[in-house]
Amino acid sequence: MSPLEIELVPCLSDNYAYLVRDADAGLCAVVDPSEAPPVKLALARRGWTLTHILNTHHHFDHTGGNLPLKEEFGCEIVGPGQDRARFEGLDTGVDESTGWSFGGRAVRVLEIPAHTSSHIAFVMDDAVFTGDTMFAMGCGRLFEGTPAMMWASLSKLMTLRDDTRVYCGHEYTQSNGRFALTMEPNNTDLVERMRDVDMARAKGLPTIPSTIGLEKKTNPFCRPGSAELRRTLGMEAASDVDVLGETRRRKDNF
Ligand code: ZN
Ligand code: FE
Repeated sequence: MSPLEIELVPCLSDNYAYLVRDADAGLCAVVDPSEAPPVKLALARRGWTLTHILNTHHHFDHTGGNLPLKEEFGCEIVGPGQDRARFEGLDTGVDESTGWSFGGRAVRVLEIPAHTSSHIAFVMDDAVFTGDTMFAMGCGRLFEGTPAMMWASLSKLMTLRDDTRVYCGHEYTQSNGRFALTMEPNNTDLVERMRDVDMARAKGLPTIPSTIGLEKKTNPFCRPGSAELRRTLGMEAASDVDVLGETRRRKDNF
């Protein structure tokens, strides 16, 4: 089995869709197509034909390209089975118990609710597509869940190997990192990472993918146990869930 090729497709103002190509099987999926035109351009440039659409959650900035792409390519739409009602044109509903398979390749589906109630992640080889649950140095807003749900979801993602590459739904890295630095100004991994991020963004380069290991070291939402973070919040004795909840509340107002 040849390794998957993954290509970033910038969409809208700060979204990423991803082309995932299995050359041997002749398959190409797009994860979270915000809109069709940039996805079609990227496919045409590579000479690839779209066979699947994978959706992490129902928000329009992740599904806006679904129907036009399905119309053009007749591709199969795969998404959270629990959320059929909110997915027009969903062909295959998946969850953690069903998993999925891409050609002959087993794909793990992780249920990671909190941003939305049925949000999922796809784990394909050493890559995970995290949608709007885990961002580089951040996490999604809690539209349909609680801090406890977000902590459980991020903890589940953190059980993946440290070298797992993290492909998230938005280029929010720089502003996430600025916030993270107000929480843990003395976290040297974070300071170092932000130097790289600022350099990349100054050149207009993407900061994605990240890795699970890097998120564990620098993402405040993955680090509610951090003594420095807790000192910043004045919550030395609080639970991890309460620390995450307060960190999220501060980020909402950052
Ligand atoms: Zn979203
Ligand atoms: Fe989004």
